[in-house]
Order: sequence, then structure tokens, then C-alpha cells
Amino acid sequence: MRVLKFGGSSVADATRISRVLDIVEAEAAKDRVILVCSAISGCTDSLIRIGGQRDAALRSSMIAALRARHSQIVRRLFTGEQRRQVETELDSIFEDLSAAKGEQCVPFGEILSTRIIARKLNCEQLSAFWLDSRRLVKTDGGKLVEELSYKNIRAAIKPHSQTRVFVAPGFIASELDGTVSTLGRGGSDYSAALYAAAVGADSLQIWTDVPGIMTANPRQVSSAVTVPTMSYASALSLAENGAKVLYAPTLGPAMSSGIAIEVRNSFDPSNAGTIVCKSDPAQVETWVGVTSTDDPGSGLSTLCLVSEAVRVPEIVCERMLACLQENGVRVEGKPWREGDAYFARCSTAFIKEALCAVHREFFENASLGVIDVFLAGYGGVGRSFVSTVTAAAGRIASRTGKSIRIVGVSNSRSYMIDPGGISPEQLEQRLRYGKSAQNYAFIDEIETLSARKAVFVDCTDSHDIHLRYEGLMRRGINIVTSNRRSLAVPYAQYASMKATARENGVFFRYDTTVGNALPILESIAGRANCSDSIVAIEAVISCTLNQIISRYDGSRGPSFASLLREAHESALTEPDPRTDLGGKDVLRKLLILSREAGVPLEASDVEISPMLPPEFFDCGIDEFFAKLEAWEQNFIDLEDELDGKGMRQRFVATLRRDKTRPLGYRAEIKMQHVDPSDPFYWVTGTENVTVIRSEQSAPLIIRGAGEGTRLAASGIIRDLLQ
Ligand code: ASP
Ligand code: MG
Repeated sequence: MRVLKFGGSSVADATRISRVLDIVEAEAAKDRVILVCSAISGCTDSLIRIGGQRDAALRSSMIAALRARHSQIVRRLFTGEQRRQVETELDSIFEDLSAAKGEQCVPFGEILSTRIIARKLNCEQLSAFWLDSRRLVKTDGGKLVEELSYKNIRAAIKPHSQTRVFVAPGFIASELDGTVSTLGRGGSDYSAALYAAAVGADSLQIWTDVPGIMTANPRQVSSAVTVPTMSYASALSLAENGAKVLYAPTLGPAMSSGIAIEVRNSFDPSNAGTIVCKSDPAQVETWVGVTSTDDPGSGLSTLCLVSEAVRVPEIVCERMLACLQENGVRVEGKPWREGDAYFARCSTAFIKEALCAVHREFFENASLGVIDVFLAGYGGVGRSFVSTVTAAAGRIASRTGKSIRIVGVSNSRSYMIDPGGISPEQLEQRLRYGKSAQNYAFIDEIETLSARKAVFVDCTDSHDIHLRYEGLMRRGINIVTSNRRSLAVPYAQYASMKATARENGVFFRYDTTVGNALPILESIAGRANCSDSIVAIEAVISCTLNQIISRYDGSRGPSFASLLREAHESALTEPDPRTDLGGKDVLRKLLILSREAGVPLEASDVEISPMLPPEFFDCGIDEFFAKLEAWEQNFIDLEDELDGKGMRQRFVATLRRDKTRPLGYRAEIKMQHVDPSDPFYWVTGTENVTVIRSEQSAPLIIRGAGEGTRLAASGIIRDLLQ
């Protein structure tokens, strides 16, 4: 048995009714059919007005107009004796309507349409049997009495085993005491579902005037498209939150009897429309549709986005908010989520813009690409990375169409991996109860997973973790690192990592290893790769030394030793501050800068002039500080002398073209005395300045904050999203 339901616009006139009959005929050739119809379009509204009309003259002219519409249909569909018979039947129905009062008028529309259609089918030798839904579908206080209705329907159909087509009015029912009732506006869909459930139909077809259930109302969003399949739950969410195409209660009987609903277009019967059925357990992420409901009292509307199997549901509200705001729609309060549906409230005046913006964001852009991240290192930068990813998720998604999901995390003690994603709120807790991270067990486990396209983000300070990079790359895992030790390795190792990345089609990015989030490396590579060869790179890139040196003011301020001690105590320096003073950290950065410029520099090629004589470097730390105090006068003399000349000193790393050197470049790190015409003169605090001189362009000067975990995090995210 197949149940076919046609709505008011599908039976609005004789031409359309003929089209319906063609569809019914085709279906009846395959199986027995129950045809459920609405009243002709606008009829129910007219009947409600007729029921409420007190003025007898007005009322009879309204009834006459309705009669005229039906008579016109009859004249087109029937001729001769048959037409006379139908007209006689209409006379008696309209007589009953004239006598009816108030709400009792409402059910006549479905009786009229289905009586006409049943008669027409009989003329076509389809022997249609008309079922009186008023007797079969029972309500109690307006609520459906399901079992009784099913029993009535089955009993009514059973004796007619030879009948190919049954015709039943939708929408109408009766109370237990016999008074006529309805299933609510739009209730014909529901009637059809009840007939289908009662007889255990193989197919339930809801024929309407749109091409199935669409991603949005096409009258509001012109780019809306038909959704081929969706779950009962999705259809219910759409129907409950403003979609007009299907009456929400319809889903109940269909769902509990497991009958799929086909929503099809009666103007385009060859099109498959939408199939609403049980959800597929292997469902992939899908955006189903966006609808809205208006709340007339408040001037606000609620927009609802329905989805299935969303991979990162946590960010959908943020993404919705970001896209609405970017399209100039003000959102009232915060968007919220209920299961697979996401809601936002905005002014009704802007609802069309809002629907279009959300539709564009979720349905027209390519679906969101998820970037899986294994995060090594959960210290300052790692933590900041996680919180930035979380806070900016909506913006990242709406601007780049990507979402970052953390699937593994490790600190020096423990690690944990969850391919389903680790929510940031639980991360710390879960890490605490993770597995032991000894000997890079974290990486061992990552290598056993099939995690191609994932990104390994190294926020550690480890000196040997780079030895594991190439193994990861060979498994298709990309690398983003902020750990400069990994890059400041012997050149052969550096080159090998780069080559392995290239050979395996993965990216290897480390833009934050020099100058934090400043775009230094990309600027160098940008020039060097375009054969605008680099003449020199000069850089003040030690935040630690710069902080101390720029604060030091000779005889007018605190001693150099006390400034260094302060920096040491606030962990601004390396554990042994002589690593900074000796230029070790600057050396690493210079190696990275030079190699980016295409110069295969080794640490041994760099001439370093430490700030202090050798005897400061081969003693204990306490002795070192004592010696430093004693050395203060030397600092004062130099500072005061420079001050007199209007100059300052800065710790500068330089790579400069020099034909006499084997590499063609000379690299040095030393204190330099600079005057106000030099960009280094103006650097303060933890700022960094890099000057890139190339053959063809004017020098590029990059100056900005060289420190800060938040900045580092955003630099890492930039590397990830590039
Ligand atoms: N004719 C009824 C209405 O307009 C029922 C239906 O169309 O489904 O609400
Ligand atoms: Mg309808």
C-alpha cells in the first residue's frame, strides 16, 4: 500500500487536479493507493472566515464565491451526466455548510476536494473508494486517539480488497462524541502519516509545491537547494522551528512505524525530492537546513540551524555568531545549542539577511575542514595555544572554513590521545591522568595511528625532539614548531628535515622561532625565493638582553648586575643567564634567519663577541654575579661615554654578504654602538627589530613585540592555517 498526500496548492484548480490524477494513476499501477488530500488552496481560510461571519448576506456571498471556485473545477473535469451528478452532490454539501456554525464550517474544504477527486477517479475506471476520515480518525479533546484511529482505518479498508485507490480527506477527524474536529492547520500531512502507519504502508509520499525539503525557504534564500535525505529528527527540528513544508506531528507516526517519508514536488514528479528516514549511523557531517520563527510581540525572530553528525559541535554557535556579525546582523544574547539544532535570536527586520548569511556560511561554502592537532608541550605557549584556539574558533571557522581540533596532548610527564577530540575544558584533567610521556611515548603512539594530514605542534623547549620530526613526516604528519632548538641543529640535519617534508608532501613551519609572531622568516623567504638575493640581515632579536640593555642607564639608574638578577628571578633569562649574555640564543636565531635566506650557516661560522670577558663564563653562578657587581664601573663608563655622544649600545646579530668568506657571507653577533639614525636605537623592552636588505628592494624593517605567549600562539595558528 502507498499513501500519497497532496496539499492545497496541488489541487488548487482543474489542471492541477489532472496532474494529481496522473501521478495517482501511475502509482496505482504499481500498488494499491490511499490518496489523502487537502482542501483547495485558500479554502480552509475562507471557511474559517465564513464560520466567524455574523452578517447573513456577507456570509452567503462568501459561500457563493467558494461554490463558484469548486463549480469551475467541476465544469472543467466533468461533462454531461457525470457533471450533473457531481453538481447535485455539491448542492447537498453546500447546503450542509450553510447550516453549519462557527468551527463546524472548517472541515468542509477537504470533503469538497476529495469528493470531486474520488468521482473523477471513478470516471477513469480506477474504482476509487472514498473514506470518511471524520468517522475513522478520532480525537479526544483535540488530541489524537491513535490506536482507535488505526483500528478504524484498518476496519474500513479491509472489506475492499479489490479496490485500487482509496480517497480520504486530510485534516479532518471527530471527537469521541462524534462532533467534527481537525488535526490542526496543515494537518493533512499528519492524516496521511496516520493512514500510512495504520495500514503499514510501504511508502508515504507528501506531494507539495516545492522540490522537497530544502536547505532554506527558497522565497527567503534564493540559493536554497533540496536536501536528498535527512533523518526524522532533522525533519522534526526543521518543522518545529519554522519550516512550513512538513507539519511537525506527521513525523511521530512515520517514525514509530519506520515508514520513510518522501517529500516530492507535484509540479515535477520525475524529481526524487527528499526522503526522510532513520538516521544512518555512518552519517558524515551535514548541514541540513536553516529556518526561522517570528515572535511578533517582541519584534524578534529565532533562527534555527539543523545539522547531523557535526564533528566539532562546540564551535558552531561561535561560527554562527561570527558570520551574522560580519554580515551586519545584530544578535540578541548568545546563540545556543539544543542537540543537533543551533539557535540565534535577531531582529525580525533582519531575518532575511540572517538566513542568507547563515545559509552562505554553512551551505554554500565548502564544508568545514578539520585540522587535527597533536600538541607537544603544555607550558606557557601550549596553554596559550589551546585557549586561543578555543576563543577564536568561531572566527577561524567563518574566515578560513577550518576548525582546529586537538586530538592529543603531552607535557614532559604524561600524554593522552583521543582521536575524537579533547575538549579544552577537560584537557588539563585528562592530561593529568594520561599515560607516561617518557622517551617520547607520545610520538611512538602517534606513529601507530593513521593520522595523515594531522599536524604535530611542538611547543616544547626540548633539544632532541627534532630527531622524531622526520618519522612523523614520513607518516604524512605535518609539523609546526615554535621550538627554535629544533631548527638550530647542524645544517645537514636541518636540510634533511626540509627535504623529508617536501618528499612526503607535508608542511614544516616554524615561523614563531624567530621574532615570535613577527613575519620575519616569511619576509626573508619571500625575497630569497624570488631571486631578490639577500645582501644583509641585521637583527636585534634577544628579548632578554634587549630588555636589560634598554633599561640600563649607566650612573643614572640601577646597576647592570641588579637588572640581570631581576630578569633572572622573573625567569626572563635562561636558567643560566650567561646563555643569553654569551649570545647563544641569538646564535640559534641567526642560524634560522640565515638558512631561510639560503645560506647554509653552521654555528661555527658565526663570530660571537660576548658582552663580557672569558673569565665570566667559566665559574659558578654566584661567583659570576659577584664578578658582575665588580665590573659595574666598566658598564657605567661605557654607557656614560655613549650617552655623551648621543648613542646607545645594542646586541646585534648580522649576516652580511662578503665575497672573501667561504659561504659568501659573514655572520657575527656583537655589541654595536648606534645613533638615532639607526632603527636599532629606538628599540625598547622586549621589542625585536630586523632589517632585511636585498638587492632589488629598499630595506625592509620589521619591528614589533618579540615576546608573549599569546602572540606565539597566534603565530602558531597562522602557521597551521596557512
Ligand atoms: N486544509 C488544511 C489547512 O489549510 C489542512 C492542510 O492543508 O493540510 O490547514
Ligand atoms: Mg497544507
